[in-house]
Parts: sequence; C-alpha cells; structure tokens
Amino acid sequence: MSGTALLLVQAVIYFGVMAALFRLRHVMGLGAFLCALGVMHFLETYLAAVFFIELPFGLLSPGSTVLFSGKLAILLLFYIREDAETVRQPIYGLLIGNFLMVALVATLRLYDTPISLPGYNPDLVLIDQMGALMIWGTSLLFIDAIALILLYERLRRLLPESVILRSCISLALILTFDQLGFFLGLHLVTGTPFSALFGGWVAKMGAAITYSLLMGLYLSLFERKMTETAPQPLSDIFHKLTYRHKYEELLGKTGHDALTGALTRERFETLGQVTLARGAVAKRPVSLAILDVDNFKSINDRYGHVTGDEVLRRVVDCLRSEVRGEDRIFRYGGEEFVVLCENMPHETALAAAERMRLAVQATLAKEFAAAPTISIGVATFPEDASDIRGLVAHADTHLYEAKRLGRDRVVGNSTAVEGRAG
Ligand code: GH3
Ligand code: MG
Ligand code: MG
Repeated sequence: MSGTALLLVQAVIYFGVMAALFRLRHVMGLGAFLCALGVMHFLETYLAAVFFIELPFGLLSPGSTVLFSGKLAILLLFYIREDAETVRQPIYGLLIGNFLMVALVATLRLYDTPISLPGYNPDLVLIDQMGALMIWGTSLLFIDAIALILLYERLRRLLPESVILRSCISLALILTFDQLGFFLGLHLVTGTPFSALFGGWVAKMGAAITYSLLMGLYLSLFERKMTETAPQPLSDIFHKLTYRHKYEELLGKTGHDALTGALTRERFETLGQVTLARGAVAKRPVSLAILDVDNFKSINDRYGHVTGDEVLRRVVDCLRSEVRGEDRIFRYGGEEFVVLCENMPHETALAAAERMRLAVQATLAKEFAAAPTISIGVATFPEDASDIRGLVAHADTHLYEAKRLGRDRVVGNSTAVEGRAG
C-alpha cells in the first residue's frame, strides 16, 4: 500500500470509530468516547518518534500525523455538538494524564539495574526521548485545542454558513502552527531530518481537508437537527475553556431564580431546546410539565405577599423532592413552573406530576392556612410537538383544562387524573 493510501485508510478508520462512539454518547455515555480518545495518545508519540511514511515526491511524514490531526478534529466536533464546558474536560484530562505518565516513567529511571532477559532490552534512550516528546507534544496539543476552538468561533463571524470550510481553515492553521512547534521538538530530541518538516505539514494539511469533509458528512448524516448556539464573546469561551469561570458560575447563580432557587426562564430557553435536540438524537422521549399555583392571587390578597413568596419557595421544595436528580425545574412565570424530564415517557411523567401535586397538597396544607394546591399540564416530545415552543403550548392547553375542570389536578393526553379527591 502506498504511504498516501495508508494515511487515508487510517484517517477513515480512526474517524469512523471515534465518530461512532461520539454518536452513541447518549447510549454508552461520554466515558467510552473519552477513554478511546485518551488511549491513542501514547501510540501517537511512539509513532512520531520511530515511524516514518513516504509520501509522493520523496516527502517523509511522521507516522503520527493522522492520529494527531484526528484527535484535534474530533475535539472540534465535540465542541461543535456540545460546548466549551464539556470539551475542556478531555483537553485538561489529556494534559494531566500525559504529564502523569511521563512522571511515572521518570521514576522507572531511578531503578538502576533493569533486569535484562533475552529478547527484552528496555530501550532507555527511546523511553527518554518519548518522555521529552510527550511533554512537548502534550503541551502543544493543549494550546492547539484551545486555539482551534477560538479560531473556529472567530471564523464563525466571517463564514456563518459553512461548518466544513470553517473547520478546514481552523484545522489547517492550527496544524501548521503545531507542525512548526512539534518538528522543532522532534528535531532537537531525535534529530529528525528537515525533509520531515515539510512532509509532515503536507500530511497534516491532507488530514485537515479529509477530516473536515468527514465531519461535514457526519454532521449532515447524523446530527441534522443541529442548531448552533448563539455566538458568544471569544473572551467568554476562553474563560470557560480554561476553567476561569467557576463551574457554579457557569451553571449560573445568574441562571437561578433568587426567590425559589429554580432555574430561570432564560435558562429554559436554551436548555429546553438542547434537551429536545438530545432526545431527538437518542430517539428518547422528553416530557414537560407546566404547573401553576391555584388561586394564588387570593393567597396574596388574604395572607400578604410575604406568605405568597414563602408558598412559592415551598412549592419548589416539594417539586424537588419528587423529581429525579436529572430533571430540571424552572420558574417560568410569577407562580408558574416548568419541570423538564429527559428520557421520560408520557405515562411516567403523568405519574410524576401526580406525585408532585400530592406532595404540594399534603405538605402545604400543614404549613399554610390557605392550603395552596397546584394544577399541572403534561406534554411529551416527540408525540405532542416537535419543538420546545410547541411542547410548552401543548402542556399549557392541558394546564388550562386542569384549571377548567376545577384545579388541583394533572391533565395529560389521555388522562385527567382526579384531584381534590380528599
Ligand atoms: P389560577 O388558579 O387561575 O391560576 O388563579 P391565580 O390567582 O393563581 O391567577 P394567576 O395565575 O393569574 O395569578 C398569578 C398571581 O401571582 C398574580 C401575581 O400577583 C402573583 N405573583 C406573581 N409573582 C409573584 C411573586 O413573586 N410573589 C408573590 N407573592 N406573588 C406573585
Ligand atoms: Mg398563573
Ligand atoms: Mg395561578
């Protein structure tokens, strides 16, 4: 097989498996994808140090270009489909894990008489060279990955339409920078000939083009419903990528309602859409319950706003005690709340809503003379609506129906679960 064909085959296999793992992230969890990404690194460094491939016109390329460029492309894909808060995890994990590996190997060197068995000769020179290359390559990768994402975002303003072109240009520029940097290290550590500088660059440019096309193919085949988030200031993305935003700040103290601690309406606008998109990819239902405190105006009027506020706080406490850890509670309006339940079919959501209703009814009757109750409307994606607005509207008609039927009840598609029984 010729060198070019070999690299191409490698790129397709590498991207194919990594993209499949990424695609299956909602089924297998992201851990499988991230581990696979991480274990490649050792091989890359080894290949960079010892394996060269001949390209046309007598060019030489280190054997690692496909794997290395592939990792950057996959990180970019990861960023495009997820966000800065998620992609920074493997970026830091790779940096720290590789440094740890080098540190552990360095301790092996303290052992002065490695046992020599026939056929087993620890190549200490190679180990040392790889340690140095590992540190250098890993540090560069860290810078590359962050710069790649920032560049991609920068280009978004210039090329808002084309993800492929944007990816290709940013990969090509970052890989050029990387090639200069990494070759310098390679040359100093292992004396790699200069012909490999240009050869490696040519291979990386080929990789940038190949991977951008593969990414475009992947996105158009499997993530067609992709909606890109609104552009954010580059400094914000940079701060997120480098953990300068604290995690809680990212999730947003701002994202929480001051009175009840529920997530804000603004957070619903973004999270709602993202959650449905995830549900669509994973082909799993997402249920939404919208609930409204019954006769709240009269509670305010009779017992005062301070009591009214306390009721709202306690309603959210009750909801929290009835939902799963992954469900999200939003304060949608004054005394209206939305609960978003990923991966929950309609019947289950109805039962959960009924538990919420009973919890509010039972708990608050003991605490407030007004004995506040709630009415709930439930709707489920994809059967009731294909987008988040439609889903809210559908649940809202059920809420309206619950109010009309006499309040303190849950209404969903088939059922109007009885309320006010006791
Ligand atoms: P219904 O059963 O039909 O929902 O009757 P309702 O009285 O609850 O009617 P509506 O939903 O229109 O009333 C909402 C009231 O909630 C009006 C507003 O004064 C009150 N409210 C909104 N936000 C707050 C808040 O933060 N604190 C307090 N105490 N009251 C609020
Ligand atoms: Mg209301
Ligand atoms: Mg109300």
